[in-house]
Amino acid sequence: MMDLDESRVVDVQLVQSNEVKSSYHMEKEGLIRSVKTFSDAGITIQKIVTDRHVQILKWVRENMPKTKHCVDIWHVAKGLKKKLTAISKDKDCDALTPWIKSISNHLYWVAASTPSADPSLMMEKWQSVANHVQNIHEGHGSLFEKCCHGDLSGRERQKKWIKPATKVSERLDDVILSNQMKKDIPMLSTGQQTSSIEAYHSVINHFAPKMIGFSYHGMICRLQLAALHFNENRSKLQAVDKDGVLRYRLEFPKYKKGEHIVRKVKVHSTFDYVENLTEVVMSMAERSSLAKQRIPIPPTVPPPLCHDFLHPDMSDAIAGMHSRFSMNF
Ligand SMILES: [Zn+2]
Repeated sequence: MMDLDESRVVDVQLVQSNEVKSSYHMEKEGLIRSVKTFSDAGITIQKIVTDRHVQILKWVRENMPKTKHCVDIWHVAKGLKKKLTAISKDKDCDALTPWIKSISNHLYWVAASTPSADPSLMMEKWQSVANHVQNIHEGHGSLFEKCCHGDLSGRERQKKWIKPATKVSERLDDVILSNQMKKDIPMLSTGQQTSSIEAYHSVINHFAPKMIGFSYHGMICRLQLAALHFNENRSKLQAVDKDGVLRYRLEFPKYKKGEHIVRKVKVHSTFDYVENLTEVVMSMAERSSLAKQRIPIPPTVPPPLCHDFLHPDMSDAIAGMHSRFSMNF
């Protein structure tokens, strides 16, 4: 759980997949535990931003009636792009291809331009894009009457308008006006986005590489260390060169399929939390023996993931290995 205004990790929960019915339920379980941690501490959550997972939406609706629930635009945009790309590959629908990025950008604009988060206004703004792609820029609705752009020039004008009453226009309208979008648009998060969560996840990958299996407590420790490291370095300043010019670098991430992104080069990380931790541990050890301390580690540890698997007798297993060996060679 992260405070998105501050980009600060405020709670970490570890859910092992065999603690819940299926790995599908892990996110919801993590959310339930985090929300309980906050309510036990007397902290009220006024607004929460999550992905649009059906289970999460349902749980928040039923269990957090006083909390405003928003969905992260990135997740909505991802689903939207996938649908539009699929349509653009159908017969007679390639006219949609040059519009996909603009329509996705429009989604971000809908949220960014509506700080009041007025659901009706966001909906009218969103649906206006169905007109815009057909070169209609006025008469959208009562709250959002006309497009905000001025005269279109350059690239926008070179893009071919989509002809009304064609297969592609009808299929595009089906997506823009779909029930799914009618649910998602009013819930779009207008202020905070969850991109810093992704940044925390990459710090976790550093502290707890996926290729190594850790014990339950080992994993908790690593997640918490990752959180300390992230919080200390979350607002790292951008590095400058010897002339004082801000430094950037180009990256070509796989998901961009050959397109580049520009990243700010940050100053080196600091590790003050290591010293702070050491001091806390030393003072705890000085006060009394560890046995007398109430260490806040989870008392019940779920069994390891391989616990429920069939464990054969060792000599049978070795015999099996040898018989396979002789068959192969
Ligand atoms: Zn327009």
